[in-house]
Amino acid sequence: MCGIMGCVGGDAVQKVYRGLVKLEYRGYDSAGISVLSYGNICTIKKAGMVSQLERELTSLNGTAAIGHTRWATHGSPSDLNAHPHASGKFSVVHNGIIENYSSIKEELIAEGYSFKSETDSEIVVHLLNKYYNGDFLMAVKNTVQRLKGTFALCILCADCNLIAVARSRNPIIIGRGKGCFYASSDMPALAGDAESAYVLKDGQIAVIGEDRAEVYGFTLEKQQAEFVPVAASQTDTQLCGYPHYMAKEINEIPAAVKNTLSAFGKDCENALKGLYCGVNRIILTGCGTAYHSAMTGAYVMEEVLGVPARAEIASELRSRGCVMGGDTLLIAVSQSGETADTVEAARYARERGAKVVAVTNVAYSALNCVADVVVPVRAGTEVCVAATKSYCGQIAALLAVAGALSGKRIDGLEDIASACAQVLKCKYVHALARLFTQSSGVYFIGRGVDYPVALEGSLKLKEVSYIPGEGYPAGELKHGTLALIDENTLSVAIITDRALAAKTTASVQQIRSRGGKTAVIASQSCISKELEKDAQVCIKLPDCPKYLSPIISVIPLQYAAYLAAVICGKNPDKPRNLAKSVTVE
Ligand code: GLU
Repeated sequence: MCGIMGCVGGDAVQKVYRGLVKLEYRGYDSAGISVLSYGNICTIKKAGMVSQLERELTSLNGTAAIGHTRWATHGSPSDLNAHPHASGKFSVVHNGIIENYSSIKEELIAEGYSFKSETDSEIVVHLLNKYYNGDFLMAVKNTVQRLKGTFALCILCADCNLIAVARSRNPIIIGRGKGCFYASSDMPALAGDAESAYVLKDGQIAVIGEDRAEVYGFTLEKQQAEFVPVAASQTDTQLCGYPHYMAKEINEIPAAVKNTLSAFGKDCENALKGLYCGVNRIILTGCGTAYHSAMTGAYVMEEVLGVPARAEIASELRSRGCVMGGDTLLIAVSQSGETADTVEAARYARERGAKVVAVTNVAYSALNCVADVVVPVRAGTEVCVAATKSYCGQIAALLAVAGALSGKRIDGLEDIASACAQVLKCKYVHALARLFTQSSGVYFIGRGVDYPVALEGSLKLKEVSYIPGEGYPAGELKHGTLALIDENTLSVAIITDRALAAKTTASVQQIRSRGGKTAVIASQSCISKELEKDAQVCIKLPDCPKYLSPIISVIPLQYAAYLAAVICGKNPDKPRNLAKSVTVE
């Protein structure tokens, strides 16, 4: 959560502003920028989107600047709570949660420091002032040593044209550009500006100036930093004629799936096979959409490998103290690889001796550092907060893993990208979207591999259109949710497995018998006259092997959710209260 940008050198304010615009997907409730101008720190900050700052940018000038786009954890999204927090000689932006902030705040208040915000972050700026005796780095060191919790910090000091950054669990990257150095929460924000970048490790501090960067441990021992090239292309973060990123990214699903499967090379296959020795249970984990792809992965792996496999919600895996050991393979799925709950679940597994595989769409992520083997998703940069192409990429990657571990290629995998392209042209998706907007609640049902898709369809609709609903196993409906069905509700049945089609059709009839409207998304061979007859909308999918259907059946659901958001006048790319890359637990 939250985007951090910093720059020393050149037109720092403009560069920080541009970076914040690119990082806005990480949080967008308030934003601010501080700049060092002739030994003074000037700050503008406001509730709302980054663009709120644009008009006042001309009043800021200087060669070192830091900025922040916030996703509030402590204190409402107000002007005062927005970052940066500036006081005395320093200004600070923070990503994460300082867990011991309240005791430190009491201590600082007793010492005479006064607080302007309700945030946990503000203690950092006062600690810096408390420990500062002319040595910037020493003040940073003494400050970070007091902090418990998670943080990425970016700090401006009035006495020097330098920025300090520090990392404990939340991501921060430094980038080298022409005549300047940058700090950023992610790589895509540096694309086109920085030539190379270094991703800080936990427990590191870096100091950047116009022409240098130095990296230290938290006790100030100097450390090596190997910079890697930053891809110059920014095309995948541009709208390219689409009205929204969500529409663009759904249309990129065929490429996401194809690129993911091509990136799964022999090295990855061999590494997975090596890791699999001695494994007799598989746990897949993730949050939100990634949890739904993990569920699909678990269904497929258990069947293909004949080994118990199940999906666990990452936050619950630790909360309930999931039992695992050296015989366990944990497969952690996260688009960003920075999802705090998932990274912590992977660490938890490692501490118990489990083998860990990361499935991520980002090359330099915290999750990758914890894993024994990294399976790349190559969906490209996903800007829309609601995941679409990364979900399909994750399932493709998990199917490739299932194939590698079983030594058998999953049937039909090579044709799945073209099936996705075909489904993108499906009829009646607009009609489904309109039905969504006319319903008081939308219930998605499916059996077997269609059940995680039902959950994902429901999540997508809630996220972007705020229309309430739930996903259910079709057989479970009669055990409770049927009580909610009336003529104002819509139930969407996903049916792609012929062996289960008759049973789910019976569930659809139970809904119709109680006056509920129904829509059907089904493979051609699963559609009976009975199923089609009373459906308000029937979307026909091409037949494809069972394990592959979750990749295609989700596409009309994603697109209909997108259209419903547009019909309701919502911005599908930036849903209220949400942010991408959830780096707080
Ligand atoms: N905990 C801080 C706040 O609420 C930072 C949140 C973030 O990462 O955006 O302001």
